[in-house]
Amino acid sequence: MNYGHSLKFGTFITPQNTAPEKVVELAKLSEALGYDLVTFQDHPYQPKFLDTWTLLTWVAGQTEHIELAPNVLNLPLRPPAVMARSAASLDLLSNGRLNLALGAGGFWDAIEAMGGRRLKPGESVDALSEAIDIIRGLWDVNERASLRFKGDYYQVNGAQRGPLPAHHIPIWVGSYKPRMLRLTGRKAEGWLPSLPYLKDGDLQNGNKIIDEAAIEAGRDPREIRRLLNIAGQFSPTRGGFLNGPSEQWVEELLPLAVEDGIGTFIIMADNAYTMQVFANEVAPALREAVNRELPEGLPETAIRPVAVQAKRHQGIDYDSVPASLADAVIEPGDPNYARVKSTYMRGGAPGIVFQVKNTDQIVEALAFARLHPDVLFGIRSGGHGISGRSTNRGGIIIDLSRLNKIEVLDEATRRVRIEPGARWMDVAAALAPYGWALSSGDYGGVGVGGLATAGGIGWLVRERGLTIDHLRAVEMILADGTIVRASDDENLDLFWAVRGAGANFGIVTAFEFEVDEVGEIGWAQFVLDASDTAEFLEKWGAVVENAPRDLTSFLIMGPPRPGQPMIAQIMTAVDSDQPETIINRLQPIAEISPLYDQNVVITPYANIMANAQDGYHNGQGEPMARSGLVEHITPEFATAAERLLHSGEVYFFQIRSVGGAVADVPPEATAYGNRSANFSVVAFGANRERVNRVWDELMTEHFNGMYLSFDTDLRPERINDAFPLATLDRLRELKQRYDPTNVFRDNFNIALETTESAIG
Ligand SMILES: Cc1cc2nc3c(=O)[nH]c(=O)nc-3n(C[C@H](O)[C@H](O)[C@H](O)COP(=O)(O)OP(=O)(O)OC[C@H]3O[C@@H](n4cnc5c(N)ncnc54)[C@H](O)[C@@H]3O)c2cc1C
Repeated sequence: MNYGHSLKFGTFITPQNTAPEKVVELAKLSEALGYDLVTFQDHPYQPKFLDTWTLLTWVAGQTEHIELAPNVLNLPLRPPAVMARSAASLDLLSNGRLNLALGAGGFWDAIEAMGGRRLKPGESVDALSEAIDIIRGLWDVNERASLRFKGDYYQVNGAQRGPLPAHHIPIWVGSYKPRMLRLTGRKAEGWLPSLPYLKDGDLQNGNKIIDEAAIEAGRDPREIRRLLNIAGQFSPTRGGFLNGPSEQWVEELLPLAVEDGIGTFIIMADNAYTMQVFANEVAPALREAVNRELPEGLPETAIRPVAVQAKRHQGIDYDSVPASLADAVIEPGDPNYARVKSTYMRGGAPGIVFQVKNTDQIVEALAFARLHPDVLFGIRSGGHGISGRSTNRGGIIIDLSRLNKIEVLDEATRRVRIEPGARWMDVAAALAPYGWALSSGDYGGVGVGGLATAGGIGWLVRERGLTIDHLRAVEMILADGTIVRASDDENLDLFWAVRGAGANFGIVTAFEFEVDEVGEIGWAQFVLDASDTAEFLEKWGAVVENAPRDLTSFLIMGPPRPGQPMIAQIMTAVDSDQPETIINRLQPIAEISPLYDQNVVITPYANIMANAQDGYHNGQGEPMARSGLVEHITPEFATAAERLLHSGEVYFFQIRSVGGAVADVPPEATAYGNRSANFSVVAFGANRERVNRVWDELMTEHFNGMYLSFDTDLRPERINDAFPLATLDRLRELKQRYDPTNVFRDNFNIALETTESAIG
């Protein structure tokens, strides 16, 4: 019987509390010897034992990569809802190393003595079945409603779901009798009996019952890993079963693996010698022998549970995902889907996400996407795209978040290589020790990939230019899967296009930047009265435009609030560590109108960028933003902006200073749209039609260009706003050359044929 599971080995250590350090040493030894798994029995009523959950947690903290499991957990003394949280927490803390093996109970006198409820054998199986539903239910953060469960043994009355474990925690069950075996087949992901408790034929019979129950429940029996606790002794002469030299062990374990489908052998040993001999002599030889017998053995990740398959989307040929991508795939039925389905701005429901680890996997995933020309296809780095096209509904996503390395290539020239999944706050933190910084944006959570292919209007933009102006080379995968490098020396056209319109040309896998020397800077946050909004905006615009380039200032306003004055929040960076210079630069802003609040510090650039939370994105619905680039804050523009704020259609309005060094770069040097603008404007609203209407009516006439990164309007004509005609003509010519079949189409597609139907 081959269930297609790769062979694994574990240890089973008695959690004696008389020598806790020995228990922990044996666990660490398990890891050092290369075991995949370390496990501990659980008898919470037994005063001679350490508490297993506490021990698991401790061992998780003392080890780095070995998987952990109770063997098996005494459920009657561990309420399932709490268990779910404990397990998810330990999984998060241990970086996804937990397996949860559960037992229905036994030793009922002892359980009762500890305050547990005595159950009959059949009842305890039903209670375990309920517990599994509760545990899985609490982990299922894809489900929005709180968990309600009315069972005969357990009730949950509206518990909040979560936390989401770091990985899909397999639930294994220690079972012997038919009722438990059937439960294992119906609900578990592993069967974990102990060989010393099994009689001849029990293993075969158990497999049969589990398989039948699995099939009856609509599952594939291969979803259930077969594990086995084994015990024995090494001795030079052959004796009884597992009592002899290691060759004898291999011979005796081989049929268990090949004929009975055991995928994990767990050696019950409390001594280093047995653990060593098993790890060094039995495990490798057994693995070799099994591979000889079962060369067709499937890698574990290729088995997709039937429940996962049931949530697949039409139009995606999931079965043609190559095996090399098996560890990158996240489907809607996978628990981890909650981590990847949405972005910062937009709720999504992609049909498949490839969370790739390396360039080879990107090439493979891209080939898969090419086979689906009619399916939406997005690229995600940091997931902060405002248009939200790094997620979609029913489509394919390549998620680059794991490609997030930041390395200094050459200190003398301040050359830094950064992968697209890195976030700007991590970049700032990595550069800070060198006294360097790279102006990127105002929010540390934004990813490198999306921003550095579009522009990059950041806190030092007037002095240091756009992020793309620091780009010296990119490594990129083109639509046909070719890996290229583009710089001023090679693939010049592509290097030009990538700096402003990168998303249309390929997947950038690494950026090489020349970064700046930046010391501590002045950082000010003001709240100013903006009751006379138009006048205020005009004055602020004039102050900023006339300020030396070391000042960059961003303004945020919201709609009027009843009974309160209009206010503007102004955030300003001054690239100086001299208090006098900073005050000189800030004074004209502070004097524009009554100052309600102020906070000024001198701080490293990295501190300003450390303003984002970790964790996965949970964007909801559709983002709605419009944007434009404007040369000056004229009285007409300021009046229009005031009317926009009073229209009731926008809840967030921002103007960022640009200009300065941005305009030093010749317009034709990169594909970035409009370098002469001094300001970039963005407004967020809720209702797409109404915001578009008021925006088009009031604002559009004042703009000269648009920064794509701040807009959500994917109608084809926006492309004409974003790029001057000559730039667009050249981009389209290059698009024909580099992406003739329009693979990269979902986010502001420059291809001529763009229609609304191509937009996700
Ligand atoms: C809170 C917030 C603050 C922001 N502040 C600023 C700011 O101050 N200045 C500024 O300039 N921008 C800012 N932005 C806009 C931001 O730069 C863009 O949204 C950018 O695309 C986000 O990059 P990302 O990798 O996080 O996004 P993702 O959502 O991962 O990607 C966005 C798009 O970029 C493209 N893309 C992503 N990765 C790659 C890649 N490796 N190769 C090719 N194309 C790729 C894809 O088309 C994708 O749809 C902000 C956005 C947010 C949400």
